[in-house]
Amino acid sequence: MKNHSCVICRWEDGLDQLNGGKIAETENFFVFHNQTHPAPVLGWLIIAPKAHILQQTAFSSDVLLELMELQQKMTAILEKTTRTGRVYWAVFGEEVKHLHFHLIPRPENLPAEALGWRIFGYKPEDGAGKLEVEGFCDFIREQF
Ligand SMILES: [Zn+2]
Repeated sequence: MKNHSCVICRWEDGLDQLNGGKIAETENFFVFHNQTHPAPVLGWLIIAPKAHILQQTAFSSDVLLELMELQQKMTAILEKTTRTGRVYWAVFGEEVKHLHFHLIPRPENLPAEALGWRIFGYKPEDGAGKLEVEGFCDFIREQF
């Protein structure tokens, strides 16, 4: 099921432009870059179900395993490509209800006031522009 008033469903169906495109997809999930411009952290990825699902409890055990394997693989790719020592995983669903998982390669120089959940308010002056995000997405798409 899709909901075309939902931004994630629209990206999944190609109705709105997704900067950097789909980076990876499995049977039930797809991966894309954070669409905030400028991007506060290059490599901030989002994994979302292709269907308009609001709660993780809707998944069968097989789909949960598919999700965890995808999160694990994307985390390994982020660790390798960004050389971060830590990748945050977070789920809130406050602004966009369609279930989505943030995978954020924590920058080594992240200021103390942006640690943990506060990274969601982080707006560095040198955020990544659209071309930088597209280049990064092309690069990690090849790693998948
Ligand atoms: Zn949706």
